[in-house]
Amino acid sequence: MLVDGRPVITDSWIEVKDPGQLTDIVGRVATGSKHHVGDAVEAAQRALDGWKRVPLKERCALLEQAATHLAAMARDMVTVQSRESGVITNTIQAEFNQAVQVLRSTAQYARESLAPVWFQDGNNRVRLEMRPFGVIAGIVPWNAPIMLTMKKVAPALACGNTVIIKPSPNAPIAVSLVLQQFAELLPPGVIGTVHGGTDVGEALVSHPKVRKISFTGGGTVASQIMRDAADGLKGVHFELGGNDPAIVLLDAKFGDVVPKIATAAFRRSGQVCFAVKRVYVPQLRYEEFCGNLTEYIEKFVVGHQLSDESTFGPMNNRTQYQFVQSLLDQTANTGADVQVLGRRGSDTDWDNGYYMLPTLVTRVEPSAQVVVSEQFGPILPIVPYQSEAEVIQFANATEYGLGSSIWSADVEHALRIASEIEAGMTYINAHGLSPLGRMQIPWGGVKHSGIGREDTKVGLAEYFEYHGTDLPLF
Ligand code: NAD
Repeated sequence: MLVDGRPVITDSWIEVKDPGQLTDIVGRVATGSKHHVGDAVEAAQRALDGWKRVPLKERCALLEQAATHLAAMARDMVTVQSRESGVITNTIQAEFNQAVQVLRSTAQYARESLAPVWFQDGNNRVRLEMRPFGVIAGIVPWNAPIMLTMKKVAPALACGNTVIIKPSPNAPIAVSLVLQQFAELLPPGVIGTVHGGTDVGEALVSHPKVRKISFTGGGTVASQIMRDAADGLKGVHFELGGNDPAIVLLDAKFGDVVPKIATAAFRRSGQVCFAVKRVYVPQLRYEEFCGNLTEYIEKFVVGHQLSDESTFGPMNNRTQYQFVQSLLDQTANTGADVQVLGRRGSDTDWDNGYYMLPTLVTRVEPSAQVVVSEQFGPILPIVPYQSEAEVIQFANATEYGLGSSIWSADVEHALRIASEIEAGMTYINAHGLSPLGRMQIPWGGVKHSGIGREDTKVGLAEYFEYHGTDLPLF
């Protein structure tokens, strides 16, 4: 852990196991207590006064320096994070690149939008300032932890807050090492890291000197955080789960669509908030689509995350693995067709990790559990539809609303459907934001997929409060 700029070692720890080779221990991580949380928050509170007075330009320059350090650290850290998370190294390298970009673009947005703004009429002058909240708690999940952590640390610090990060016990090592390096650039206490599970998370959320909670994770935990934050009337910012639909229209070109949907569904073994989690295909072309997708996925190789032949690695942890397995059993019992595809990696010890082959579910009811829940695993239901009205109703019939995609040769038609989808984002003929989309679209979801937005100048607003001063001219 990192408290007041110093590493803290405790006499209790968790062993972080490689989910693709469970007999290998990647590292041991200290676990904290309520007292460590208290120490970290007090240190962050002491650091606040000095940090918020550091000129904006300097704070932004420090973020850019951190970006350079992170890019340099990536070579070693990619392997560490790959081993602890179970995700293949190419995907982790891409995540590090994005995290570096988050630090740089946040510095740019902050420079452009955080300076005080003045207004004037014939009688008065008005000054509008953007002020930090104080100590921010950033609670992150295990999937894509480096990028998700930087999405909290960068805007929090740019706005003059101090920040304490609680990584997930399921992938805490690379994040901690990166934050330790980052903290060396800053005064003690500006960044802190505390480790642990629910008890440490709850202590952090409930601490009276934490002014805001920025959380990325699942909806059940988010509800608990909201309850714990209520007594202190604290603000919350939530980036939560998704159940993204991919809507294939009649005129879609399957040669282009199938590989893109398959990648967006199975990357990180499907453990991505905005993975494609259900596909809707017109009844008229249903068999053709399922055939093409089956053929494509049949070539996937599931194996250890460090092996070059692996298309994707194991699932990250036992709880998630068991959840997906039981969802699969339940689905098979409903009479849907369950097809297990791909092959096991040749140098993988299959029974020594949380491995699962890619699985397609066809002839499935639109309201089946496997369709409407967030599976968060390598399992993809494909549902036929009869009409445009029906597919819009299917797409919206879930509590989630993060991303969504529409696949068609006619982008104007796709645009019209996009207007009807209840989600934070709709991608057309892709599933994920383009570089322009990342610069312009605030990231986040509606309904149970989140509260608030991340990235862009809009995302910065989660980390400051307004203060207005009104003064007469004469
Ligand atoms: P999780 O909700 O189980 O855990 C997230 C974090 O919360 C962990 O650090 C955990 O230790 C902590 N925590 C648990 N109980 C707590 C409590 N009572 N108080 C405070 N902290 C507590 O999520 P997970 O399994 O690690 O991650 C997967 C979920 O995250 C999925 O639902 C996924 O879709 C979502 N996610 C969303 C986004 C997004 O941008 N919308 C991005 C990535 C992941």
